[in-house]
Amino acid sequence: MVEDESTDFLIIGAGFSGLVIGEQLAKAGWKCVVADRRPHLGGNAYDKKDEAGVLIHPYGPHYFRSNSQRIVDYLSQFTEWQPVAYQIKSYTEGRYWSFPINLNTFEEMLGRPSTSEEFEGWLKKKRVPIDQPKNSEEVILSQVGRELYERFFEGYTIKQWKRHPRELDPSLCARIPIRTNRDDRYLREEFQALPKEGYTAMFERMLEASSGLELQLGIDADEARARWKHRHLIFTGAIDEFYERRFGPLPYRSLRFEHESFTAEQLKPRESISGKPGFWQPAMQVNYPDAELPFTRIVEIKHATAQKIDASSIVREFPKDWTPDDEPYYPVPADDAAALYQRYAELAKGEKHTSFIGRLATYRYYNMDQVTGMALAEASRLMTRYGNPNMT
Ligand code: FAD
Ligand code: UDP
Repeated sequence: MVEDESTDFLIIGAGFSGLVIGEQLAKAGWKCVVADRRPHLGGNAYDKKDEAGVLIHPYGPHYFRSNSQRIVDYLSQFTEWQPVAYQIKSYTEGRYWSFPINLNTFEEMLGRPSTSEEFEGWLKKKRVPIDQPKNSEEVILSQVGRELYERFFEGYTIKQWKRHPRELDPSLCARIPIRTNRDDRYLREEFQALPKEGYTAMFERMLEASSGLELQLGIDADEARARWKHRHLIFTGAIDEFYERRFGPLPYRSLRFEHESFTAEQLKPRESISGKPGFWQPAMQVNYPDAELPFTRIVEIKHATAQKIDASSIVREFPKDWTPDDEPYYPVPADDAAALYQRYAELAKGEKHTSFIGRLATYRYYNMDQVTGMALAEASRLMTRYGNPNMT
């Protein structure tokens, strides 16, 4: 426990980035204070039980996945894992579709059995020949053609981003796999699992294991910087906010979440839709590409957590414009946003005693494993730079 009001490292943000770097530096013997303006740790990955007792992801679904054994091994010090094959559906034209696009989707379209060969032949005819897709529209057109692009991607993307897929980076829609076999998992990564008791429990264990790491909640960066003298600052909040938006605000997309819980009794009439007792919908996540509906997806996380409970809870996600009163959930993957970010990144480069890590501080559409990797790398850079704490 740190008792005086000075620390070696002051870390702003108690999400994946801030906690991982804090754990590493504290383990090396440095004093660290992690301050977050929210009343809880975990950042957007925070989970908790709602009033019905269902473990929910209040800031939207967080599906852990990784191709890095090193990152999985690191986090495994603090959690066991619940393997999950993340499966979702898309709902449009009045029906559920297998999604991401795979052989089952093709059969649903044809209304009869088919084969990978037939689907591949069909795609060959439909694909728009584009060698190097320059945007998210081209990336999908080049893989599946216009019909499937319009059915599953165009409306969803416009709703989510209020920008046309043509104005968005190819990497955005390229996140979604397209397969001609029956593999209908939403994600590509080798390791797909949730922390067995949830993210919050994993982070709490991380803190317990780190005696030199002090967590301070409900405190803003400015107040924390004034309160704790520090030799180095690690900032994981929004980089434009750090610089008081002097070049103008970076664009973000925000979300409004509408949570709803159901008792076992209330779930009974849904059985014909969900296909099993105790569930509201037929998959962990259902995407709604239709423009008429104001939400993009409904998530029923109990499908993934496999929590043994009769009740269930869902959350609808309504995309919204970001204002300074909203959480900046998504950096916008577009050229104009990247150019503005570069101006802030130039300022950040000149800071000798501040590191910028994480999704908001580097303005990158990073997943949890990627920000974990970034935090581990920065911790090792700082340890090399500052040496052994017992020698200073
Ligand atoms: P954050 O989790 O955003 O944490 C930053 C923390 O800093 C916050 O707690 C914030 O309160 C605090 N903070 C910011 N500014 C200040 C300030 N000025 N003063 C004090 N505190 C401050 N990733 C996946 O791998 N799989 C998924 O399925 C997935 N789904 C997602 C769904 C949604 C809706 C969203 C928004 C993100 C999703 N992500 C997912 C991404 C994931 O949330 C991030 O990769 C990860 O949480 C980033 O961690 P971080 O610590 O960088 O940032
Ligand atoms: N997307 C889409 N239709 C879908 C699912 C995704 O058009 O049914 C596009 C959309 O632009 C979305 C992007 O692919 O923002 C990435 O989707 P993902 O589910 O990975 O987004 P996240 O979980 O990060 O919100």
